[in-house]
Amino acid sequence: MINLQDIRDTARDLLASGEVRAVIGFRSGSRGMAAEPAFITRPEEADELVWDPTCFHNLALYLVEDRKFQAHARANPAAPIAVVAKGCDARAIVVLLQEHYFKRDQVYIIGVSCEGSGVLDERKLAGHLNGFPATSAAFDGDDFVFVTAQGEQRLPAREVMAERCLECREPYPREHNVVLGENRSGRELALPFAALTRFEAQSPAERWEFWQRHFERCIRCYACRSVCPMCFCDECVVDSITYPVTAETTAEEKANRVRWIERSATRSENITYHMTRAMHLAGRCVDCGECERVCPVNIPLRLLNNKMEREARERFGYEPGASIGGPSLVASFRDDDPGQFIR
Ligand code: SF4
Ligand code: SF4
Ligand code: SF4
Repeated sequence: MINLQDIRDTARDLLASGEVRAVIGFRSGSRGMAAEPAFITRPEEADELVWDPTCFHNLALYLVEDRKFQAHARANPAAPIAVVAKGCDARAIVVLLQEHYFKRDQVYIIGVSCEGSGVLDERKLAGHLNGFPATSAAFDGDDFVFVTAQGEQRLPAREVMAERCLECREPYPREHNVVLGENRSGRELALPFAALTRFEAQSPAERWEFWQRHFERCIRCYACRSVCPMCFCDECVVDSITYPVTAETTAEEKANRVRWIERSATRSENITYHMTRAMHLAGRCVDCGECERVCPVNIPLRLLNNKMEREARERFGYEPGASIGGPSLVASFRDDDPGQFIR
C-alpha cells in the first residue's frame, strides 16, 4: 500500500536539493472530497500533497501546459519539472516523449502504482451513498473508505472503481525516475475491453442508434479535448482559423475562412468532431478515462477510444504508451502492414 509520507518526502527532497523546479501532484480539493492538481515549488509545501481514490486527473496534461508556457515565455529552464504519475499518466508521458513533445530529461517522473485498485467513479459512488455527499475518501486494502454526514462508509473498491481501472492491465508506471508501490503489471480485475465487448454484442443498427442518440446530446463544450494530454495541437481542426465577420468582410474573405467543422452543436457536426478526434487518438489514447469523466452530459467516450485502442492492438500488436523507443503507430509502417495502400 502506498505511504503518503513517501510521496511527500520524495517531493520535499527533490525541491530542497534543486533537482526539480516544481512538483505537480495532488492536494485536497475545494470541490467536496475530490483532490485537485497541486503545483508546488517550495519544500515546505510538500505536506499539502495527498494520495487517495479521488486523484483522478491525468497530470501529464500539466506537463503539456508547462511546455506551452515555457515556449511562450521563451524560457529554457535548467531543472526538470516533477510529476506524480499513475500508470495511465506515465503512459501518456511516454506517448508525449515518443512524439518529441518534450525531452526525457525535462521531466522527472514520480511513479505511483495503483497496485490492487485505481480511482473512484463518482457516479457509481452516488448510487451507494443515498444522496449524502462524501467529504473524504481513502484507500484501505481492497476497500475505499468514505466519510459522510452519516459517518464512515466502507465499500469494496471494485463496486465504485472507475471502469478503466477495473480493466487496467498496467497500473504500474513503468517509465519513472522513482517509483512507489508494488509492480502489479498484468493485473486484471475485469477482462480488458469488457465494456466494449458488451457494447459490440449489439447489432450495427443498435450501435448506430446508440451513437446518434449520444452525439446529439453533445454540447461541444470541448471539455473532453481540454482535459486530454494528447490533444495538444495549437490549432485544432474544430477551431476556425479566422477573423470576425463584419459588414466590411468581403465575400472572398468569407469564402476563404478555414472551417472544417461548423461550431453549431448539431448531430452531424458533432459526429464529425468525435470521429476526427477518435482518429487523431488512434494509437495515442492511453485510456486514462479523463475525457469521459469530465463530460457534463455523460457521453460514453471511452467506448469510442477503446475501439481504436483494440484495433491498434489486434491489427498491429501496438500498445500506446508502452515504450519511448518504439515507433508511434501513426508515424510508422511495417512491410507486412495489412493495408494494401501502404505498399
Ligand atoms: S487506469 Fe490503471 S493506472 Fe490509471 S488510475 Fe486506473 S488503475 Fe491506475
Ligand atoms: S465533454 Fe461531452 S459535451 Fe463536451 S464536447 Fe466532449 S463529448 Fe461533447
Ligand atoms: S482520449 Fe480520453 S482516455 Fe484517451 S488519453 Fe485522452 S483523455 Fe485520456
